[in-house]
Amino acid sequence: MYHSNIQTHRKDFPILQRSIYDKPFVYLDNAATTQKPDVVVEKIRNGYYSVNANIHRGVHFLSRAATEAHEEARRTVQRFIHARTPGEIIFTRGATEAINLVASCFADAFLEEGDEVILSEMEHHANIVPWQIQAARRKIALRIVPINDKGELCLDDYRRLFSPRTRLVALAHVSNVLGTVNPAEELIAIAHSHDVPVLLDGAQAVPHMHIDVEQLDVDFYVFSSHKIYGPTGIGVLYGKERWLDAFPPYQGGGEMIASVSFEKTVFNELPFKFEAGTPDYIGSTAFAEALRYVEKVGIDAIAAYEQELLDYATAKLRALDAPIRIFGEASHKSAVLSFLIDGIHPYDTGMLLDRLGIAVRTGHHCAQPLMKVLGIEGTVRASFAFYNTRDEIDALSNSLQQVVKMFVRK
Ligand code: PMP
Repeated sequence: MYHSNIQTHRKDFPILQRSIYDKPFVYLDNAATTQKPDVVVEKIRNGYYSVNANIHRGVHFLSRAATEAHEEARRTVQRFIHARTPGEIIFTRGATEAINLVASCFADAFLEEGDEVILSEMEHHANIVPWQIQAARRKIALRIVPINDKGELCLDDYRRLFSPRTRLVALAHVSNVLGTVNPAEELIAIAHSHDVPVLLDGAQAVPHMHIDVEQLDVDFYVFSSHKIYGPTGIGVLYGKERWLDAFPPYQGGGEMIASVSFEKTVFNELPFKFEAGTPDYIGSTAFAEALRYVEKVGIDAIAAYEQELLDYATAKLRALDAPIRIFGEASHKSAVLSFLIDGIHPYDTGMLLDRLGIAVRTGHHCAQPLMKVLGIEGTVRASFAFYNTRDEIDALSNSLQQVVKMFVRK
């Protein structure tokens, strides 16, 4: 049933109709960012044309309307990830800022010299560098979970990394390079058995699978709007209330205060304590529109269809007449396919595919430590969204075959 809807859904994304170098545009760079359906773009246009006024504290009509829209957007996010209260949903600029917020506030509140934070070899730089900054400031140690040959976390090593000084675990829910879907519930249960909280980087998970933060019992969960069909520049930190309450503020300014005097400032309640300054209240409503769009298509239908695309693409690439290596062969994988063709630099592959109208990403994908573990400089990465088709995957594999031929001829 779903397959028959795909062309209808594609029409919701005007950019997919365009051509590049007179060729049909094949967009396979969805892990970097997704395209936007017209309802999202329309929401931004309508927001600025009809509902634009700074939110909170305004008595006039538009300010109240914009405030209500922003807070409704927060409730939409809350519903989407099944959080307990809207106060646990903090709007940030994206997953990166959300992780920085946790790293900074958690360190301020709880970390002392000699404490330890557990990360893994497959982390995006966004979930490494903020911890390194705190490690340098506070002389804490980072403990790194290794991966196995299939690109899965080594759970026995993970178990062994806990010590009496472990204070936090921060792991990708889904790897942006390998596509590995980490066993979140198990990872969290293990950490909680040591009384250690867990942050999951859900940037690559939320667009592709049903997320229930309450069921996961995760302490912090972060993701970005732009990777789930929403606008750029906005994202989410979910945090359990008791942690967020215990955090000091992240930034100071308007919105995040209850009262200010030069003698004493009282901070606002959640979530506003963490939202200093004018928030992206137009972006939040467009983001919520994107989530509603996903709900309408159905996240389970999306997950099932993308899995088919991934299986199809993996089989197609394996069948190429070329020495191809696929990175990431976890038993539970999301719609990301990283590969290298022996003897062809990933940038060359990417540039030649581009000339054929196909957008893929090449390079280290902001995961240089993982590249080091894999012993490579970078990969070619095709990443899928529910609007991609088998025809587009055929285009990818046919074009790759052409690329191989060009290199063999040289
Ligand atoms: N974590 C992962 C796993 C990612 O793939 C990305 C984006 N590539 C990020 C974090 C950072 O997201 P953003 O740039 O939207 O803050």
